[in-house]
Amino acid sequence: MEAPLQQLSDPLLDAHGVELWVKREDLLHPTISGNKWRKLKYNLQEATRQGHHTLLTFGGAYSNHIAATAAAGQEFGFDTIGVIRGEEHLPLNPTLQFAISCGMQLQYISREQYRQKDEPAFLQELSEQYSKPYIIPEGGTNNLAVQGCTEIIQDINQDYDYICCAAGTGGTAAGIIAGLKGEKQVLVFPALKGGDFLQKEIQELIYTYCGQEFSNGHLITDYHFGGYAKIKPELMAFMQAFQEQHHIPLEPIYTGKMLFGLFDLIRQGYFPKGSHIVAIHTGGLQGNAGFKQRLGVEV
Ligand SMILES: *Cc1c(COP(=O)(O)O)cnc(C)c1O
Repeated sequence: MEAPLQQLSDPLLDAHGVELWVKREDLLHPTISGNKWRKLKYNLQEATRQGHHTLLTFGGAYSNHIAATAAAGQEFGFDTIGVIRGEEHLPLNPTLQFAISCGMQLQYISREQYRQKDEPAFLQELSEQYSKPYIIPEGGTNNLAVQGCTEIIQDINQDYDYICCAAGTGGTAAGIIAGLKGEKQVLVFPALKGGDFLQKEIQELIYTYCGQEFSNGHLITDYHFGGYAKIKPELMAFMQAFQEQHHIPLEPIYTGKMLFGLFDLIRQGYFPKGSHIVAIHTGGLQGNAGFKQRLGVEV
């Protein structure tokens, strides 16, 4: 499995004297995509070590993590349970159809119940209901996920000054920052509103992982486009132009917003001349089919 570095050529980059590479984590695995593979890797090892045969995890109906966990279960021989926020809608969307085709069993819970997804009592209840599965939190983020995400930076055989990634739970960003041990500048683009919360979350994840604090992570909070899974015409136009020019597929929830933001920062002169930038393509392309179906928008 490989995630090659792909250098982009673009007049905007030349005009500002910066160089940009995209690390194609989306190519790591055909169905266990990008950062979700990084996050699952050590969790799967730990589940095996503890003698579990079943994985249980949480997500929304379009969750990349649900799709990745279902695929990982099928590939590595675990039964999988997906606890899904909200009611069942038939026909199933492409994400949940895929999960089921991998053998995942789905349990729908109300949005109120879903808020208890990290509470020990609720987890205990689920654990008993499904004969003690290995439980992975929403988005796949835990300490072993952070460990896995430190490996994103291991095979970048290119000097760089900045590294950029999209963020949901912040687990991926935490792994990258922890892996860099204070070196380079890490720009983190949240896909949700409410960056302050994420800042704290990332710091805590890093501290839990390695007992250290680093100050080279920076949240860039201006490019969420109104919130999680919200889109605007200019985002879709950017993505379309980007895909045509660079032949790299994007999705609008994470990677599209991150690259839109990165290009906007370049345009504003944020990066000194001569800067080398690496943008992490965290994958998630499975979500595009559902996006298209739901909004009628071609991605
Ligand atoms: C899940 C996901 C993210 C967010 O990762 P976190 O570790 O939760 O911050 C970013 N990009 C893509 C494509 C994802 O699927």
